[in-house]
Amino acid sequence: MSAENQVSSAAVGEAESMTVSEQIQQRELAHSVGVYSKRPVAIVRGQGARLYDADGREYIDCIGGQGSSNVGHANPAVARAITEQAGILIGCPELFFNDKRAAVMERLCALTGFPRVFLSNSGTEAMEAGIKFARLLTGRTEIIAFMRGFHGRTMGALSATWEKKYRGPFEPLVPGFKHVAYNDLEALRAAISNETAAVLLEVVQGEGGVNPGKAEFLAGVQALCLENGALLVLDEVQTGFGRTGKMFAFQHNGLQPDILCVAKSIAGGVPMGATFLAAHLPDLPSQVHGSTFGGNPLACASALAVLDYIEANHLPEHAAELGTWFRGQLSQIQSPLIREVRGLGLMVGMELKQKVTPYLQALMQEGVMALPAGLTVLRFLPPLVISKDELARVVAAVEKVLSGEGGTGAEA
Ligand SMILES: *Cc1c(COP(=O)(O)O)cnc(C)c1O
Repeated sequence: MSAENQVSSAAVGEAESMTVSEQIQQRELAHSVGVYSKRPVAIVRGQGARLYDADGREYIDCIGGQGSSNVGHANPAVARAITEQAGILIGCPELFFNDKRAAVMERLCALTGFPRVFLSNSGTEAMEAGIKFARLLTGRTEIIAFMRGFHGRTMGALSATWEKKYRGPFEPLVPGFKHVAYNDLEALRAAISNETAAVLLEVVQGEGGVNPGKAEFLAGVQALCLENGALLVLDEVQTGFGRTGKMFAFQHNGLQPDILCVAKSIAGGVPMGATFLAAHLPDLPSQVHGSTFGGNPLACASALAVLDYIEANHLPEHAAELGTWFRGQLSQIQSPLIREVRGLGLMVGMELKQKVTPYLQALMQEGVMALPAGLTVLRFLPPLVISKDELARVVAAVEKVLSGEGGTGAEA
């Protein structure tokens, strides 16, 4: 036997003692650049609000593709739309017109009340377009964002993102960005001027800890933008498409953004982003921005199916009702570890007095996938098709884990 064969048969022997999930993990790790911190589980299938790993274990999904799976996994209507469109036309750059794109632009504009939209492929691209459009339209360069805000990872959006861990390694970032405290109108009043191009705002901060904006604050931001001729750019990448109990979070407060950015759940998990311009803004000069994949017919067909599904199944109303119930149930859990339960609709955070990592691991042992938001907040972003029974199981798992019965040895 050659040395080479000995090595490979040893590798096979080792592989045989690993679960399928572990083998997949090892293969990915061998070729990844290292930027992700992954959980030791290989997810191979989903159904509604359930996920399944390669070893057949079932989980209730409160990660929801980080907010991109509002219509649920393997949604049959979305699967059908994608399959059909794949056999017709997948790509069609915007040097042509396209039937599916025309249809989705009409639908999106009717839904948001905005007359015009630019289509892209992700949240960060939607924000990137928002920032560029605001600079173009105002002729100003200064952008104000908020502390704990998250807007994406490309250089423009990253410049608006607060977290030092994401920004620090890539400085110098784009000049002209400032950060002020969230839910603090006086801080914004002190920072904004007639040199401000835009204020970038999340109605509920997601990554930053599930922090809902107070009604007076949100209205005040709008007013300060108006007074200073700055554009209000809303980042509804995470809050859009029913998540907070309305189709869009700005509809809770009667906010009137000048530019609206969405992505995540817009096309049921197929990559897509969109940036809307308010009626009072002029068209942009030809060729100043663009995207090869933006507005591709596959994503557009998927988005059309998603919008139909959300409306036909009243997912925003479902998110409002279940979210209120879920937050109520979580609030009733008796544990000295809990600082606060907060959120809007099915965007829910539970702030602990300790780091959440061990509790996230313990929840996974209990068959529940949840997210962190910062170091101390457990975040729940389930697909909006989740049932009350499934959420009741999540509540029971959280209760068990926080009472120290979850078996992590994490209880302090
Ligand atoms: C996820 C997210 C983004 C970035 O979206 P990507 O698709 O990951 O680029 C931007 N803003 C908010 C509020 C988000 O939650």
